[in-house]
Amino acid sequence: MKTLPKTKKVGPSRGLGPRYGSTVRKRYVKVITELKKPHRCPQCGFVRVKRESVGVWKCSKCNYTFTGGAYTPVTKLGVVAKRAAKGAPIEETAKAVAAAEEENE
Ligand SMILES: [Zn+2]
Repeated sequence: MKTLPKTKKVGPSRGLGPRYGSTVRKRYVKVITELKKPHRCPQCGFVRVKRESVGVWKCSKCNYTFTGGAYTPVTKLGVVAKRAAKGAPIEETAKAVAAAEEENE
């Protein structure tokens, strides 16, 4: 029996095989690519920030460690939360939260 040459799969979803469905795999790839690429450090400005743990980000240049989103160092909701913590008016915060949530989907 002749088998077709297998094309080598690349990309973050290669370990998943045909599982979970294409929509979920596509979403997974998007999140993982964002996670794996180096991010800019808010402290020194170098693009050396990598994820240390879920929600914990560390800059390999200046060793600055900070918290952020689970898959990206900065989330829209996080920015809104920071603004709210600084004492932004409640209505404005609620509006921003709604806008951020809408953009997530
Ligand atoms: Zn840094």
